[in-house]
Amino acid sequence: MEAVMREFTEPQHDHGAWEYEPDTHRTRWSTALYEIHGVERESFDPTVESVSTLVHPDDRETYMAIVRDAIATRTPFACQHRIVRPDGDTRVVIIRGSFVEGFEDTPDRLIGTTQDVTEHAGDEERLSHLANHDTVSGLYNSNRFMEELTREIASGRRNGADGALLVLNLDRFSEINSVLGHMAGDQLLRKVATVLRGRLRDTDTLARIGGDEFGMILPGCGPEAAGRVATQLIEAISNGATIQAGGTERRCGGSIGMAFFGPAERRLADDLLVEASLAMHRAKTNGRGHAQSFSEEMRAEQAVMLSTEDELRGAIGGHELRVQFQPIVSLDDGATIGCEALVRWEHPIRGMVGPGDFVSIAEETGLISKIGRIVLEQACRQAALWKRHGRDLFVSVNISPRQLTRPDLAADISHALTASGLPANLLCLEVTETALLRDPGPIVESLRRLKALGVRIAIDDFGAGASSFGLLRILPVDQIKIDHSFIQGLGDTTSDRAVVAAVVSLAKELGLSVIAEGVETQRQQAELRDLGAELAQGFLYSPARNPDELQLDGFAATVLHGVV
Ligand code: C2E
Ligand code: MG
Ligand code: MG
Repeated sequence: MEAVMREFTEPQHDHGAWEYEPDTHRTRWSTALYEIHGVERESFDPTVESVSTLVHPDDRETYMAIVRDAIATRTPFACQHRIVRPDGDTRVVIIRGSFVEGFEDTPDRLIGTTQDVTEHAGDEERLSHLANHDTVSGLYNSNRFMEELTREIASGRRNGADGALLVLNLDRFSEINSVLGHMAGDQLLRKVATVLRGRLRDTDTLARIGGDEFGMILPGCGPEAAGRVATQLIEAISNGATIQAGGTERRCGGSIGMAFFGPAERRLADDLLVEASLAMHRAKTNGRGHAQSFSEEMRAEQAVMLSTEDELRGAIGGHELRVQFQPIVSLDDGATIGCEALVRWEHPIRGMVGPGDFVSIAEETGLISKIGRIVLEQACRQAALWKRHGRDLFVSVNISPRQLTRPDLAADISHALTASGLPANLLCLEVTETALLRDPGPIVESLRRLKALGVRIAIDDFGAGASSFGLLRILPVDQIKIDHSFIQGLGDTTSDRAVVAAVVSLAKELGLSVIAEGVETQRQQAELRDLGAELAQGFLYSPARNPDELQLDGFAATVLHGVV
């Protein structure tokens, strides 16, 4: 009796075969497969769903994702997971499948085998699978990817063929991960893997090579073809890589860097990966959502960036950052009504370095958060001091896009206000128009949270992006700063005059105040007054200065000059 029972529960064979028709969802199992799963042909109908109920709950999500991918994309796959048989026994199986195209009356099919490796679990095969695959997406991992890249470079050399290496990094993935949790993040990664796999050829290699980074090798592809593929992949991801979370659809975009190898290739896989990664970073800093090919000057820029980053770290620790203030003036009577805080780096050798030379590097490296905190604290302290001396001047602080999406910004602002004793309504945060256009959703959310603290919000450099008049109606803003490029053209260019006139009248309609930036001449000032602008900032009045060098008594003589 015992022998018979054993015969039934212990599979006779450790390999079973299966076949699945995507069009009809028909599945067929060999007898061994029923045995491996501990179910009987008469009572168990093996559909994708029913089989998934036999998969160990911890492995089910990955299993389903891999199988659904394979069905959708009709590409070969392999998956190792645990099954729990109805009698409670847990087995470890490896499924391997490939797609067979139909002919004549035979439909398309996925066919494959399922191997029970319980007895060998932990042995070579299992270890080798783990060593080569990413457990979240089921794709190759970075080790395996680099091996494949080495192989492809060598084969390109042998066969006189070109090839492309693509590195795709997801845009804003960390936000999804931190806001919605790692489960949602993993789900999205699997979705991206499916979308990519569906777009690539069988001969292309796809791997997950980092947290939110995917690597692709496209043998036989030159720059032009690879560029086309990359653009299609980005489009496919932004349209297709979506997940449902909290009742809404979440999606993310991607940026791609490309490097190329050819028949005379001397570089190693590692060198190529560095090139593609540099290009990917460039794509990100140039506004994300597009593909960029590697070029030599990126390497030099990277070297400058790394040394500036080091120096900048030292500057933060060594208190070399200064905050200067530029007056904001009423065009009515010349009174100073506020100041913009502008950061400078007092470099021991280079002298006073302007933000243009280090803010973008600080943004890229994340140092902007520390710098932003320093500026915010000094600016609030200074404005509180003015207030104690009887001057109610507001202070404007520039906030970079990177700071805006950080969850601790509101806490930093509250802290700066409390520590200095500055009333919130005397602090204004400047956000550039281009930052808003790039990514309105999360930024609008963040602005609303900040507004709730009682601070004011200004749109900086308005018009420099796309003159987003539509956005003005929905944004929680109090102030618009017209970009200096329009002010420069006043008096000479009628189109600039028209833009300034339109901004001033829209702002009045929406109850917002307008500041004209970069006013340098009496002529520009006269035109601005003519157009009904009320506030201005620029070298005509004062550049940014240290607090003790500032002229806070106003600029009545300048403003009233020439007015009859
Ligand atoms: P912004 O916020 O638009 O600042 C105005 C810039 O115009 C300042 O340059 C200022 O010195 C300059 N400016 C003022 N009046 C005139 C004028 O009449 N003519 C001309 N040609 N320029 C004038 P600056 O200080 O070099 O700052 C450049 C940019 O760097 C700022 O543009 C801002 O986007 C960024 N920045 C400055 N400080 C900070 C900071 O603390 N944090 C962040 N995130 N960005 C900052
Ligand atoms: Mg500004
Ligand atoms: Mg500006």
